[in-house]
Amino acid sequence: MSSIELKHIVKKYGDGFPAVNDVNLDIKDGEFVILVGPSGCGKSTLLRMIVGLEDITSGELDIDGKRVNDLAPRDRNLAMVFQNYALYPHLTVYENIAFPLRLQKGKHSDAEIDQKVRQASDMLELDEHLQRKPGNLSGGQRQRVAMGRAIVREADAFLFDEPLSNLDAKLRGQMRTEIARMQRRLGITTIYVTHDQTEAMTLGDRVCVLKRGVLQQVASPRELYEQPVNLFVAGFIGSPPMNFLPARVDGNRLKLPFVDVPVDGELAEKVKGKDVVIVGLRPEHLKDSTVETAPEHSVKFNAVVDQTEWLGNEQYAYIPYEADGAVRKQLEDLDRDLDGEGLRTQMIVNLDPRSRVIEGDEARLAFDPAAMHVFDPHTGANLT
Ligand code: ATP
Repeated sequence: MSSIELKHIVKKYGDGFPAVNDVNLDIKDGEFVILVGPSGCGKSTLLRMIVGLEDITSGELDIDGKRVNDLAPRDRNLAMVFQNYALYPHLTVYENIAFPLRLQKGKHSDAEIDQKVRQASDMLELDEHLQRKPGNLSGGQRQRVAMGRAIVREADAFLFDEPLSNLDAKLRGQMRTEIARMQRRLGITTIYVTHDQTEAMTLGDRVCVLKRGVLQQVASPRELYEQPVNLFVAGFIGSPPMNFLPARVDGNRLKLPFVDVPVDGELAEKVKGKDVVIVGLRPEHLKDSTVETAPEHSVKFNAVVDQTEWLGNEQYAYIPYEADGAVRKQLEDLDRDLDGEGLRTQMIVNLDPRSRVIEGDEARLAFDPAAMHVFDPHTGANLT
């Protein structure tokens, strides 16, 4: 087992924009860390630099306190865990797991190999399947065989690169649970790359959100959801996504599309001098006040519902809005920095299943102003 430390890691392909830009990250022994972000954000490049498949342009990579920048992949003792395709179909589960040990010719006796394979298969609950071929195993069992190989090698850490991306939704859910269970049981340091925020939120002790090669936030799933540091993280984490409502700052009031919200204390200080801010509200923080009791100090407003979606255990209402013309102009000028987030024109409400609101209705909505996030439109920083 191992700790992995990244200091000012940079990757440039040719002389273009850095694919990974000044990443600092301290992964503790036994930790399950997720690298997540949209396509092209640099997550695979980062993983490949850690495992040694890609050169590090600058910065330092330490494993267990030892500099490994120039070590060949095989000398880093890390295991990339591939799914399915990396297993040998003609070999039994037993032989697949034993394979890395047999490769180290003469280093292990048959008795030693047998002991290691049995130990690994016991940990991974594969004992009953040792004589089967990979073709007769479920996806989850195959994944465990791949992990078994890494275990017998006594790899210091597991690295996964989008292992579930080709599977259908149901299988992906099962495999996710399986990987989480095995990682906790084995306690092996794990780095897992995905673009899927559900995987990120359910698997990781800590989640690293990347955008254009830059780490935006490293935090527990709960902290990412409740205290996103900026607009990008706030918009990326959460499904359906956080609503971003453009608001004009008018003294101690924020003028949102449907309603004015008074601000005081620290927040009033932070928005002072700004013309425009972006207010973030999670869909579940907007309530239908006819079926849910809103706290005394809630902000209340009415809005016409354009569309509803009923999913049994929850339902969504879609509410179009228009930003004040001057506010919209300002945000359009900034759009490049906001990744388009400031220019949405529809709000999503996660309605209580008891709500009977339908398309065309004027819904009576309420939200607790304490649930608001307020973002600086220039920097994207969360001011709350
Ligand atoms: P995806 O989810 O689509 O796999 P990613 O977040 O894993 O994306 P990377 O594959 O790490 O992203 O790529 C990061 C950036 O580096 C991208 O802009 C990509 O085009 C670029 N890139 C990746 N590999 C190379 C390469 N071998 N040569 C040149 N540019 C590359």
